[in-house]
Amino acid sequence: MTERLEDEYRDESGTIIMCMYCQRAQRHPPTGTQWDRVMAYIIKRPTRVSHGLCPECLDKNFPER
Ligand SMILES: [Zn+2]
Repeated sequence: MTERLEDEYRDESGTIIMCMYCQRAQRHPPTGTQWDRVMAYIIKRPTRVSHGLCPECLDKNFPER
């Protein structure tokens, strides 16, 4: 069950995109606005994690973009 959950966030290369501010993970395939809070164990496992910005934090931190 946990494996299936992780698969929802991994891309083809096994990388999970995480927001560097709120630590939410982007779903894969990306839906654009779907970033979820994930259990810590998901990112603690040997997984490639790439940091990004979710739309919410983007607006919050870069309102003038
Ligand atoms: Zn965020």
